[in-house]
Amino acid sequence: MNHDTYDLHTHSTASDGTLTPAELVARAAAAGVTVLALTDHDTTAGIAEATAAALEHGIRLIAGVEISATWGERTVHIVGLGVAVDAPELATGLAELRTFRAWRAEEIGRRLAKHGIDDAYEGARGFSNGSLIGRTHFARLLVQRGLAADTNEVFKRFLTHGKPGHVAGQWASLEAAVSWIRAAGGQAVIAHPGRYRLTHTRLLRFIREFHNAGGAALEVVTSTHSRDDILNFARLAREQQLLASVGSDFHGPEHAWLQLGRLPPLPTSCVPVWRDWS
Ligand code: AMP
Ligand code: MN
Ligand code: MN
Ligand code: MN
Repeated sequence: MNHDTYDLHTHSTASDGTLTPAELVARAAAAGVTVLALTDHDTTAGIAEATAAALEHGIRLIAGVEISATWGERTVHIVGLGVAVDAPELATGLAELRTFRAWRAEEIGRRLAKHGIDDAYEGARGFSNGSLIGRTHFARLLVQRGLAADTNEVFKRFLTHGKPGHVAGQWASLEAAVSWIRAAGGQAVIAHPGRYRLTHTRLLRFIREFHNAGGAALEVVTSTHSRDDILNFARLAREQQLLASVGSDFHGPEHAWLQLGRLPPLPTSCVPVWRDWS
């Protein structure tokens, strides 16, 4: 047994988090996290800084990424843990996703302009501070402009399917996302499975395709999972012979309800994704 505290899903300013990688690591260490994965959307640009900071704080940094994937008509997220950031398949794949992101950000700007919201692209780019641009940056901009009370409301009114700023995702296939992670020596994890609103049948199909593609684990514990979700996904992981992961999906301290190092434990029936980590 060990006494580590794991948080294997977090974001920094390299994608849509609000803390720099070094600030994130400092905050995680202070909160008692001893094994932290930085898993920014479609980039590993923050890993070097986070690794250096982790050394300073005496915690272990797992190089990670959260890959945007398209499965059927849906966007799903596949976390990669323990990836070599310079592995060519992964680096090239992520670069393609960022190219799509850059176009999508401009397209969101054009669509919002048609809806009477000017210069949203420029504003979102300002919020992203030179990193890749995500919908979260548009959401923060529209909140700042007083167009919605919070980012969740921006997503609901402007950025999701059928809304004025929505642009359909054209991300990696499930097979590609998993194979890039494996080629980089990492383990693939289905992020926040409770968020996809899949029927039980579709969820099972998704998990089986993921497993067949070489996927390793299911994120059983995450901040948006209820107690029932945790038990349900723990059972699914066991039945489908997947390992289980734990990650907050922390994006910054302004989300007061979600803090680092404060997750419920994995049910004891789970085999943790870190079982074979040295
Ligand atoms: P993107 O990958 O650019 O399409 O943006 C997805 C990100 O937006 C997620 O990782 C979350 O950080 C954020 N997000 C998605 N839905 C919501 C929501 N309803 N409220 C607030 N943030 C959201
Ligand atoms: Mn995000
Ligand atoms: Mn996600
Ligand atoms: Mn995430």
